[in-house]
Amino acid sequence: MKIILAENAGFCFGVKRAMKLAFEAAKNSPTPIYSLGPLIHNPQQVQLLTQSGVQVVSDLDSLTSGDTIIIRSHGTNPETLQKAKCKGLNIVNATCPFVVKAQELAQILAQEEYQVVIIGEGNHPEVIGLTGFAGENVWVVENAEDAAKLPEKKRIGIVAQTTQSLDNLRKVVSVFLGESDEVKVFNTICHATALRQKAALALAKEVDLMIVIGGYNSANTNRLASLCKETGVHTYHIETVNEIEKSWLKNISKVGITAGASTPDWIINEVIERLKIWEQECTKNS
Ligand code: SF4
Repeated sequence: MKIILAENAGFCFGVKRAMKLAFEAAKNSPTPIYSLGPLIHNPQQVQLLTQSGVQVVSDLDSLTSGDTIIIRSHGTNPETLQKAKCKGLNIVNATCPFVVKAQELAQILAQEEYQVVIIGEGNHPEVIGLTGFAGENVWVVENAEDAAKLPEKKRIGIVAQTTQSLDNLRKVVSVFLGESDEVKVFNTICHATALRQKAALALAKEVDLMIVIGGYNSANTNRLASLCKETGVHTYHIETVNEIEKSWLKNISKVGITAGASTPDWIINEVIERLKIWEQECTKNS
């Protein structure tokens, strides 16, 4: 049986960087440090972080001067950063540089008095953070239908949540192109998600079974699993190695593996090792 790991599986650059900063901060701090919201959508890795001394808080209220707060890769709004400074907290800002770029561009558009439009999910932490940088006159739209309902404006400035699809960006932009004198668009989409999906899809088409590893609460892992299923290949979504069953491998000659952006390497490696052991057992017994 051949075991093939998809390209770009697991941690993206931004999550890898956030993890490194968090573990370094935990190592260098004699007291607990805090993350503003879970650093990652993976329960096993969050548990590991907690054991290393990183506790999750939902706001800054309970923290006092000298405490350390980690801002996760999605970023946060300027008000929260200001509040953390005023409280005298040590800030470890793990906002992904791609998200920082989108925040800066939203801020510039607001300063240049464009009507800022953010394409994304309104309740996602990244979009909530972006909104804070875009000033008071900001519209958040999920899709072209939302955009079509908005009043006309002469000058529109657009940024997108980093995980949006290019297709959705194009559709929203075309709505404003028909109505406004000036439309300024910054393509702030990060390619990590698209690359991971493309590689998973290509692999799903050449194997007999796909195993997608990642938190059940991870939107990008769920998306990977549904994309693989759509190709018609038998697909299992698991969080940990203990969920795999030997019976899945019956009559399988090629297994493909991929993992979401928040799935650590150690969980991926445990799955691969388990499959290799079973493969060796099969070879011995045959
Ligand atoms: S998906 Fe892209 S923007 Fe988001 S954290 Fe990863 S690298 Fe950064």
